[in-house]
Order: sequence, then C-alpha cells, then structure tokens
Amino acid sequence: MYGTGLAKGLLLTLRHFVESYMDDLRYGFRKYHHSTDNFGIRQGTKTKGVITVQYPDEKVAVPERFRFVPFLIVEDEDHPTRAGKDWCTSCGICAKVCPPQCIWIVRGNDPVTGRPVPEPEAFFIDIDICMNCGYCAEYCPFDAIKMDHDYELASYDRTSHHIHDKERLSKPNSYWRSIAPTRAYDEMLVRGTWEHKDAAKEARRGASSARARSSQPAAQAPAATVTAAAPAAEATPESSAAAAPSSAAESPTPWSEDEAKREERRRKALERKARRAAKQG
Ligand code: SF4
Ligand code: SF4
Repeated sequence: MYGTGLAKGLLLTLRHFVESYMDDLRYGFRKYHHSTDNFGIRQGTKTKGVITVQYPDEKVAVPERFRFVPFLIVEDEDHPTRAGKDWCTSCGICAKVCPPQCIWIVRGNDPVTGRPVPEPEAFFIDIDICMNCGYCAEYCPFDAIKMDHDYELASYDRTSHHIHDKERLSKPNSYWRSIAPTRAYDEMLVRGTWEHKDAAKEARRGASSARARSSQPAAQAPAATVTAAAPAAEATPESSAAAAPSSAAESPTPWSEDEAKREERRRKALERKARRAAKQG
C-alpha cells in the first residue's frame, strides 16, 4: 500500500522522540550530581532515544579503527636499548603509495661515512592534503606509521601548522598501544614480537654470537691440532702422501653429509640433462 514506508519512518522518529524523554525521566536528577559518570551512562549502549552531545565539554569515544591523520611510532623513553628511536626506516614505501602525494621523507646519512642509514632525517606530511585513507599505515612494512585518533587539529595558521614535521608526527609506541590495543596485539602476533623487526633481529644476532663465543674453546681445539700437524706435513712431502690414505681411512667421506647430498643431486641433474639432450637428438 502506498505510504506504508512513510508511516513506518515517522513512527520510528516518534519512538526515538518519546524514548529520549522517557530515558531522561528515568535518569532523573542524577545528571546534576558531580560524582556520576553522566556521559558514560547517557551515551552507553543501553541508552535509548537521541541525545545531544555537548561538544567540546563532552566527546563521543571514537572506535579503535577510527583514523584521522598519520603519526610515526618511536620507541618509548624507558626502552632499555632503543629509547626514542624511530621505527621508520625511511624506505619510502608510504610516500610512494600515498594517493595525493602528501608525504615527504629525507633519508638519514651517517655523518662519518656519508652512507645512508635506515632512519629518516626529516619526515613531513601535509595534513591539508592528506585524505585519511590509511594507505601509508597499511603498506608500511615496519608498522612504523599509524593513523591517529586526534581530530582536534584546527589552527589559525594553515601555512605552517598544517605541515606536520617529524617532531610533531612522532609519538611513543605506548601511545599506539593505548589507542588501538587490539590492532597492536594483532600486529605483534604477525611480527612475532612486541619489538621492532630490526630490534628483534639484533637481539637474535646478539644471542647467536654469544652462543658462538661460549662454544668457541671447544671448536678451537681441533683447529689447534691441525695447525700443529701442518708444519710436519709440509716438511716431508712423502709423509703427507703417506698421511693422506690414513686420514681417508679414518673418515669414510672426506666431505660432510650435506656436501654428499649436494653432489648426489648434481649428478642426478646432469643425468637428467643428458637424457633430455639425447631425446631431443
Ligand atoms: S613505509 Fe614505514 S618504514 Fe617506510 S618510510 Fe614509510 S613510515 Fe617509514
Ligand atoms: S592517510 Fe592516505 S593520504 Fe594521508 S598520508 Fe597516508 S596515504 Fe597519504
């Protein structure tokens, strides 16, 4: 029947209108009590009706996936080894994928050698051009750039205040974990560590070199034996010739198992190649 949809829409509006006042009556005079979390209750999931948010005194909490302008992650000040260090490696991927091209990065150089180092010397984002798409954050391979929740960025000077430099963009890792705990946790699972990829790599390298150092005395012992035996072998060529069969006798394969397997694979590959060549005539 014509007009049914219109009537349903009007009824819904009327219901919200009535519910707003019913909820206000239920809430009573508690809204004037200083110790009551008015906003949390009136904007909670159980609230009915339509409530006006008294911004800027009241602000609606933004969802975790809300995104405004990007920011750069730096290590927390209390990090034991990398305090204040950038997560960004100045790879430039974010600048390449940014649709309106509003990211500008200057790669850092080692002051002594002049060679490039994996950290940005300067990083700028023109937030008037940024369209908040989040591509930069999606594509960053180091989880170094994230979308912020801070949307109160109005200022009277758009020429300088709206070009965010590295200092303004940098925020500690703990901030990211506080505004987006679920996403930070998911990223940690993918990365396999709460740390930056490079920091985790350095830690692994440090641990393996420490292991190598601790096992060195045992590994050096046979080398010393070889060094001691070498002059004797050099002194008499006959003796070395005589010694060769004995060492071969001591170990049935003069190469490691891996080398034997590699040799076997190579032999089979050559056979296959020869068969193919014979077939092709
Ligand atoms: S993609 Fe990530 S690591 Fe690469 S320059 Fe951008 S923020 Fe830095
Ligand atoms: S959010 Fe989009 S437009 Fe803004 S800097 Fe990132 S990629 Fe560029």
